[in-house]
Amino acid sequence: MLQLRPILSHYMKCVIGDGASASFWYDSWTSLGPLIEVSGESGPRSMRLRKGASVGDATRDGAWHLPPARSPEIQEIQTAITAVEPPAPSNGPDIFQWRKSNDTFGSAFSSKVTWENLREHAATVYWHKAIWFKERIPRNSFMAWLALLRRLPTKDRLLRWGMNVTGECVLCSSAMETHHHLFFECSYSSVIWNAFASQIWSNPPSDLHAAAPFQLQRLHSRKASLPVHHLCHLEGKKCAHLHFSILPNISPASFSGPAA
Ligand SMILES: [Zn+2]
Repeated sequence: MLQLRPILSHYMKCVIGDGASASFWYDSWTSLGPLIEVSGESGPRSMRLRKGASVGDATRDGAWHLPPARSPEIQEIQTAITAVEPPAPSNGPDIFQWRKSNDTFGSAFSSKVTWENLREHAATVYWHKAIWFKERIPRNSFMAWLALLRRLPTKDRLLRWGMNVTGECVLCSSAMETHHHLFFECSYSSVIWNAFASQIWSNPPSDLHAAAPFQLQRLHSRKASLPVHHLCHLEGKKCAHLHFSILPNISPASFSGPAA
């Protein structure tokens, strides 16, 4: 959260009332944003206003009281300041506002709008509706989302991170544990996958990214959402507990389900 502090001022602005609580240097109360970013660290000395000064400290007898500008930056600041009505007790307290979705400001804070403003927007992936849908089970969706992005802590990734682990699959011990192996190549997982998926598809897809479009076609069916999500949950749970050797309490024999 503290790392976000420098950009916070760009999502807040202050409407000056009595000038008592707004920071002269660090709040965004003129068209220039935080004035310290315009003046640099020498600004407080140049304008004879300490860093902790309020906006009201820059006035005297109800008018702006500013020293002569000695640099283009200070001149720019003074021009912006004089476009703002000087603070007065009769105006009430200073009001802080948040940036809204249409780039205007309002008094209500919305975490959703602020997050949308802050986050990096990436291209929409075709499989997102196979993960995030109305009847989803949140923990399973989260695991499926990580799996499709290939971000589960599989052993091949742990080794790339420099962790001291063996690379072999924790389920079958016969191959390097990658996402594809863990979900489809592994003799253990393939039994689980086929048991679930064969109830929906006569020829189950053999890759998560291939399974997602199949699932989208049948998203109206709650049953159709189960194979990918359930397998992701089981495997994700296994990955999450990798170092503690906690495996799902299941055996391949439990999944000799009916073929379609
Ligand atoms: Zn395996």
